[in-house]
Amino acid sequence: MLLQGKTAVVTGGSRGIGLAIVKRFLAEGANVALCGSRPETAQKAVDAILSENPDAPVMGLSPDLTDEAAVEAAFASAKERFGGLDIVCNNAGISQSTPLGDYTADDFDKVIDINIKSVLNGCQAASRLLSAGGVIINTSSMVSKNGQPSGVGYPMSKFAVNGITASLARELGPAGIRVNAVAPGVTATDMVAALPEEMIKPIADAIPMKRVGAPEDVANCFVFLASDLAAYVTGEILHVDGGMTV
Ligand code: NAD
Repeated sequence: MLLQGKTAVVTGGSRGIGLAIVKRFLAEGANVALCGSRPETAQKAVDAILSENPDAPVMGLSPDLTDEAAVEAAFASAKERFGGLDIVCNNAGISQSTPLGDYTADDFDKVIDINIKSVLNGCQAASRLLSAGGVIINTSSMVSKNGQPSGVGYPMSKFAVNGITASLARELGPAGIRVNAVAPGVTATDMVAALPEEMIKPIADAIPMKRVGAPEDVANCFVFLASDLAAYVTGEILHVDGGMTV
C-alpha cells in the first residue's frame, strides 16, 4: 500500500473528485479527514464510508475554508486524532460560466474566496502543521492552460492555483515539503454523470481519448503525488484530461 500509516486532509472531500480521493487514500492505507461545506454533508460522506467499512480510519470536518484560523484548527484536530499529518489536498472549488457582461462583484468574490483564498489558507495551515516529507496537492483544472470562453472567474482562479503551487514548491522545498497540483479535464462527477448520453457524446468526441474522465482517474494521480513514488516531484501541474490540452 502506497500511503500506509500516513494521515491526509482532503477539502471538498464529501463528494465528487474529493470523495474519490478520500476512498483511494483509505484503500492505500491512509487515515483521512474529509472536509465538507457543512457538518451534515461531511458526516453523510463519513457514514457512507463506514457503512462499507466500519473500521475505516476516517473523520469529518467542516471548517469555513475562507477563515485561516478555522482551517488550521480543523487540520490540527485531524493531526491530533491520528497522531500526525502528512498530506493536505486543497480540492474544494466551485465553477462559473457567467458571461463577462453579467458578472457581479459578488460572483468575483465567491470564486476568489472558494477557489483561491481557501487554497492559500490550506497551504498556510499545511506549512505550519506538516514536517519534512509532507505533501500539499491542490486541485487545478484543464482551463488553467487556455482559459474558457465564458465564466472568466473560474480559469482566473485556477491560473492562481497554479501560481500558488509553483511559488510554494520553491518556498517550501527547502523544508522538505512538496507542493503539486492536479489539473482534471471534464470529469464525471454526479452532475456530469447525470447528463444524457447525447450530451456527453459531443464532449467525449472532442477529447483525444474519446471519453470523459472518471473521478478515480483523477484520484489515482493524487495517490501518486502523495506517495514516495513522487519523492522528487514538486511544482508540477499534472494534467489528467485524456489529452484535451495537448
Ligand atoms: P463537486 O461540486 O462535486 O464537489 C465540490 C466539493 O467542494 C464538495 O465537497 C463541496 O462541499 C466543496 N465545496 C464547494 N464549495 C464550498 C465551500 N464554500 N466551502 C467548503 N467546501 C466547499 O465538484 P468536483 O467536480 O468534485 O470538483 C472538485 C474540484 O475539482 C474543484 O476544485 C473543481 O474546480 C475541480 N475540477 C473539476 C472538474 C470536473 O469536471 N468535475 C474539472 C476540473 C477541475
